[in-house]
Amino acid sequence: MSDTGKPVGPIPTGYETRDGELAVDGQTTSQLVERAGRTPLFVYSSAMMSRRVADLRAAMPERLKINYAIKANSFAPVLKHMAGLVDGLDIASGGELDMVRAAGIDCARVSFAGPGKRDSELGNAIRHGATLNLESEGEAERALAIAEQLGTTPRLAIRVNPDFELKGSGMKMGGGAKPFGVDAERVPALARRIVDAGAEWRGLHIFTGSQALDADAVIDAQANVLDLAQRIVEKAGVSLPKLNMGGGLGIPYFPGDTPIDAQRIGAALDERFAARSDTMADTDFFIELGRYLVGEAGVYLTRIVDRKISHGETYLITDGGLHHQLAASGNFGTVVRRNYPVAIATRFDEEKAEIANVVGCLCTPLDRLADKAHLPPAEVGDIVAVFCAGAYGASASPSAFLGQGPAAEIMV
Ligand SMILES: *Cc1c(COP(=O)(O)O)cnc(C)c1O
Repeated sequence: MSDTGKPVGPIPTGYETRDGELAVDGQTTSQLVERAGRTPLFVYSSAMMSRRVADLRAAMPERLKINYAIKANSFAPVLKHMAGLVDGLDIASGGELDMVRAAGIDCARVSFAGPGKRDSELGNAIRHGATLNLESEGEAERALAIAEQLGTTPRLAIRVNPDFELKGSGMKMGGGAKPFGVDAERVPALARRIVDAGAEWRGLHIFTGSQALDADAVIDAQANVLDLAQRIVEKAGVSLPKLNMGGGLGIPYFPGDTPIDAQRIGAALDERFAARSDTMADTDFFIELGRYLVGEAGVYLTRIVDRKISHGETYLITDGGLHHQLAASGNFGTVVRRNYPVAIATRFDEEKAEIANVVGCLCTPLDRLADKAHLPPAEVGDIVAVFCAGAYGASASPSAFLGQGPAAEIMV
């Protein structure tokens, strides 16, 4: 057996050991699995989400409002819980609009970004009073025409494709040619068009990137966003009722990752707000976050169904896999595969005395949950925990692949 293992990512704070097992909010792994009735299983902690939002609010200026980007996790109980904690919700499809409505959330709190909005999606959003973050001049004209047909005043904002991006961002969504937003230099003309057409002008949306762990990168991006917004509204001669400044706060997934310093970001923003010009005196400022709010509050539990040795390496084969946890498998926007935080949930306090590969049950070599991880020796029937599963797990994985079906989900 190879004696050099590979490190795993840091287990988020807030998880405990109880009766030798991983526990979430006082409930052991065995109790959680019994409650759900099966594995694989996503467990989301409402207390951890509440704590995260409260800590973030304490770190940020009071004036800053917080939106939840529901694509991170749209499980109905999570969506309802989050809606009670945040100021607004960001959606990116007509399907997400349906989810928000089914959860009983007022669409006046909802903004809808995303390229390729169909006429039916624009119509539904306008009818229910959601704000459209327009991604192009063409989409703006379609929205205005649909609103006229409906006899409704649409709520319209413009998503700007900024000429800069969030440095060190996991996913680049600004800077240069992009399918997202309207190029910054064309935004003033479009803003005038919207105001002159008699729509309810809702301001600007400037998203610069995701998954940053460096507070300075976020501070720089926010300063650039504020400057760009100011230049645009001054040039257009329009007000700025709302500025969605994007998000970008990331979470530690991999060995060596450290949490982002939200206090520093809040302090810098406080200074920027204090120095703001009159143009933005009445502006509502928002940040929009997905993974930072819910990612660490979720854990994925999957049962070991086989244990085997191949060429001297130990394989723990589980009933889960990339069809639920695509990102943990290393196949969701990563170049080099690194290990997410993993543990043997049913032996959470035992010594990590062996090196094992944890794989899923799909018949593809892509289906890896941990490579050469130091773990307590585990047997068939034990349960593996993969952390950082609260965002882009169930909502971003190909659950139809190979017919294994979706995982169970519970919120505690
Ligand atoms: C995906 C997305 C988010 C959320 O990103 P996180 O990294 O989960 O915080 C926010 N805004 C927009 C426009 C997005 O596309």
